[in-house]
Amino acid sequence: MGFRESLSEEDKEVWEALLNESKRQNQGLELIPSENFVSRAVLQALGSVFTNKYSEGYPHKRYYGGNEFVDAVESLAIERAKKLFGAEHVNVQPYSGSPANIEVYFALLNFGDKVMGMNLSQGGHLTHGHKVNFSGRAYNFVQYGVDRETELIDYDEVRKLALKEKPKLILSGATAYPREIDFKAFSEIAEEAGAMSMADISHIAGLVVGGVHKSPFPFTDIVTTTTHKTLRGPRGAMIMCKEKFAQAIDRAVFPGMQGGPHNHVTAAKAVAFSEALKPEFKDYAAQIVKNAKALAEGLMEEGLRLVSGGTDNHLILIDLTKKGVSGKEAEAALDKAGITVNKNMIPYDTRSPFDPSGIRLGTPALTTRGMKEGEMKEVAELIGRAISGVNDEAMLAKIKGDVRELSSQFPLYDWY
Ligand SMILES: *Cc1c(COP(=O)(O)O)cnc(C)c1O
Repeated sequence: MGFRESLSEEDKEVWEALLNESKRQNQGLELIPSENFVSRAVLQALGSVFTNKYSEGYPHKRYYGGNEFVDAVESLAIERAKKLFGAEHVNVQPYSGSPANIEVYFALLNFGDKVMGMNLSQGGHLTHGHKVNFSGRAYNFVQYGVDRETELIDYDEVRKLALKEKPKLILSGATAYPREIDFKAFSEIAEEAGAMSMADISHIAGLVVGGVHKSPFPFTDIVTTTTHKTLRGPRGAMIMCKEKFAQAIDRAVFPGMQGGPHNHVTAAKAVAFSEALKPEFKDYAAQIVKNAKALAEGLMEEGLRLVSGGTDNHLILIDLTKKGVSGKEAEAALDKAGITVNKNMIPYDTRSPFDPSGIRLGTPALTTRGMKEGEMKEVAELIGRAISGVNDEAMLAKIKGDVRELSSQFPLYDWY
């Protein structure tokens, strides 16, 4: 029995949505920097019978019978992740990046403890202490940002804040920062301030594995990452840490926060890690950065201002202020043209998060499709055109045609 046949016959409504989504992914240009396209092998593991199994606990220490093969697959995921990052201890059970971060706080802190993290409005993540998030409600976060002039993290300022505030944990890592983060500097500051160091490498894990971004290992105490961004695995996350934190982390994940692990996702993580261990993955990671640099240059040639003047990684933040267009308008116009990006705050934004001054884009997904620097120049030109005519429906439709033409040269999934 083919999986396709059973879904298309048994649930026509879901099947239709699935077909439409597949078509959307195939025909458009995916530039959301936190998205990617997994391999067929990863998809197959995700859509597997491992979803049927309960296995609370850890390999060979479960609260349910019948876990021989779940143990095998979880152990594979752990061993492969250790090898990929050079981590001492790995927990592959976190459901996603946000719960993984909360689990770390729950493992190492008491409610109300002081933590330092990057401000959401300047590049940090919601779970790094934003007031609407559990992290900001349960813990006392003090936040750092970027320098107003350079739009870069000022490590002297971070150090000063750390020594003044004496937090128990210092968190580095970002969700909208186009430059390399100096994890060594962060861990030295943490050591000097008597704090534990934590790095959230959700966005850049694939670049770290590929050797095109500095690694937070071996000096950082705890490292979290999603598995579905540049790492190109299934939607999920993991926590890596020094051996001395292993027990606290494992207990915080289960039974502290979660119940049964999502074994189909664990299986898919194992598959993705084996793909990332292959030499070709290094080429992929290097190409992500080359593409981002080419795209950045092209966008600047289109007269667009980039936050910090460019990029070192997979991500670009465009400041639209001078174009007289808001992030929301640009996102909507680009959507009509088949180009998917997300609106985003820029540092020291004077507009609201619902309609900020910027858009955020990145190259991991298009790089997976096989696009290179030449195509990035074309993409930059298409974006420039769309932004200069956000209300010109005819032109946006014309760009959509060009987008479809370009994307058709880089076929994605071909079995739907
Ligand atoms: C994406 C991201 C997360 C959250 O991951 P989810 O899987 O969406 O919960 C956490 N931290 C950073 C830095 C991220 O970029």
